[in-house]
Amino acid sequence: MPSKPFIIVAIDGGAASGKSSTARALSERFHLLHSDTGSYYRALTAEMLRQGASAGDLESVKAALAKITLGTRVEGRSARIEICGRLPGEEIRSKEVNEAVSHFAAIPELRNSLLSYQRGQAETARDGGFAGLVMEGRDIGSVIFPDADFRFFLHADPAERERRRLRQGQVDRVAERDRLDSSRKTAPLSLTAGAISVDTTTLTIAEVADLMAALIEGKTPVP
Ligand code: C5P
Repeated sequence: MPSKPFIIVAIDGGAASGKSSTARALSERFHLLHSDTGSYYRALTAEMLRQGASAGDLESVKAALAKITLGTRVEGRSARIEICGRLPGEEIRSKEVNEAVSHFAAIPELRNSLLSYQRGQAETARDGGFAGLVMEGRDIGSVIFPDADFRFFLHADPAERERRRLRQGQVDRVAERDRLDSSRKTAPLSLTAGAISVDTTTLTIAEVADLMAALIEGKTPVP
C-alpha cells in the first residue's frame, strides 16, 4: 500500500513579514507540524546571554554551545525547542534578544548546532502522525530543505512590518535585523530561485494563507 503523501512547506522572509501567522494557519488547515525556527534562534540567543557569552567572542559562544542539549516538545501542532530539558519562556521576545539575535545567528558554529536539529523535525512530524511539516525562518528553502515541496518567500513594506510589531506590543527594529540577516555570509536571507514570492503588505493573514493553500492544493498553478 503506498504510504500517505508527506509534504514539506518552507516559508522564508524578513521580520514581521507574516511567516508565523500563515505557517500556523497552514499547519491547522493541512495538519502539518509547525516549526518556527526564529524561536529556536531566539531561544539559543537567550541562553547565550544567560551564560554570559558574547556574539563578538567566538570562544565564549562555543563554550556555551558545548554545555547545552536540544530537544523537542510537540504541543498541539507546534514543535517547541527545549534547551537542557527546559522550554524557553517569554524572554525570547524581549528587547535584549531582539537586539542580539541577528548577531548570534550570523555565527556559523551557532547555525551548525541547529542544522540537523531542524532537519530532524521532518522525522518528528512523521512519528507524530502529521501530514507534513511547515517550517518558517530565513534559510529553510535555501539551506535546510532546498527540496521542500513548496518554498515560499514572504515580504512586506518595512513601515508596515514595524507597525505589525508595535501592534504586538514589541519594540523591534525589523529593518535593522533584515539588514544583518541579508548581509551575513552564512545562509543569508534571500529570495532563492524557484521560491514563490508573496507580497503581504496589503493582504490580511487569511488572504495570504488562502493564497498559499490554493497553491499547495494545486487549485492555482505555481507562478
Ligand atoms: O523569525 P524571527 O524574527 O523570530 O527570527 C529571529 C532571528 O533569528 C532573525 O532575525 C534571524 O537573525 C534569525 N533566524 C535565522 N535563521 C532562521 C530563522 C531565524 O537566522 N532560519
